[in-house]
Amino acid sequence: MKSTFRLVKIAGIEIGIHFSWFFILALITWSLARSFFPVANPAWSEATRWGLGLISALLLFLSVLIHELAHSIVAKSKGYPVEGITLFLLGGVSNLQAEARRAKDEFVISAVGPATSLVLAVLFLLILGAIGGDALDSTPLVLEVRELSPLQAILGYLWVINLLLAFFNMVPAFPLDGGRVLRSVIWAFSGNFAKATKISARIGQAAGLALIAAGVSLVIWLHEVSWLWIALIGWFLQSAAGSTLREMEVEAVMKGVHVRDVMRPSLASVDPGMSVFDVVYDHLMQDGVRAMPVCEGDRLAGIVSLTDVKKVERDNWPTTPVRDIMTPIPVLSVEPQEDLSDALGLLAENSIHQSPVLYEGRLIGMVTRADIIEYLHRRKELGIDQPKS
Ligand SMILES: [Zn+2]
Repeated sequence: MKSTFRLVKIAGIEIGIHFSWFFILALITWSLARSFFPVANPAWSEATRWGLGLISALLLFLSVLIHELAHSIVAKSKGYPVEGITLFLLGGVSNLQAEARRAKDEFVISAVGPATSLVLAVLFLLILGAIGGDALDSTPLVLEVRELSPLQAILGYLWVINLLLAFFNMVPAFPLDGGRVLRSVIWAFSGNFAKATKISARIGQAAGLALIAAGVSLVIWLHEVSWLWIALIGWFLQSAAGSTLREMEVEAVMKGVHVRDVMRPSLASVDPGMSVFDVVYDHLMQDGVRAMPVCEGDRLAGIVSLTDVKKVERDNWPTTPVRDIMTPIPVLSVEPQEDLSDALGLLAENSIHQSPVLYEGRLIGMVTRADIIEYLHRRKELGIDQPKS
């Protein structure tokens, strides 16, 4: 998730906020001011309730941030690049750039978050005890009217919410922390990362659907719209788990397939001196390709694509040579023995549609996104499990 605003850098980790966070901050402030603080102490004025609501909501997000920092700092210490932390509608997320390479790493990186929330809960509970508050009586769990001090009420809220955060995140449903812990354990015992991901993501989907059902039922039974929140979290969970499963399917289909299995051996290339007009009518309009390699002899000089052509006024096509508009070398390229999934990743990351295939520096073909998708469709249609070896 991309941050809308960047706040600060802590331990080299960029902390940012997504705009949806302001909505949840307002919602939590409002619900605390409306439901908890009036029974915590009816003597408080409206302004005091709202002020305490805002402070509590901010401290909740500080707790969430500390939870995420724990994930990020441990990941970083194990050598995994961390892009930053984003606070958003449903809490916080650490943007880790790579999957863990070892089961042990994933276990530690995932478990440290809920463990941190648990430590925070105990810490707030101890402070509450030190200032003379009752552990249970200071919480929003008690619905009777009390006469708490502001500090007792805030601490009573914070220790309970951090305990809830620890428990909720430890539900073994991927991509929650508990689901990642489960995956790391199955991975460690079976040595099979794909199988471990599949099992924990299935549980993630099921847990998500259960939360949606529970949220909707509660709204209907209790006539209270705020339970919809649970359904929303469930929706998020099942869709994240579902997209992980789909990604794995694609990866499984592409396993063992190399660039050479899918590439178009392209003997056709154009000369840098050729006019844009000729490239369009002799190649791009006829060969069904989005781009042509530009070669000097058998050496690649660049690549000319539909996007490049569109930058030239139509009237100037006959007088503009390809060399003026092409993307010159070095262009991104792949090699025939490369894994197809890596090549697809390269195309997607750089938002390009095709890449030349070079063998020992010589152009031997092109690989395009459209061809890869077509290849995968064909395999599915014909029920072919394995590539030709
Ligand atoms: Zn976490």
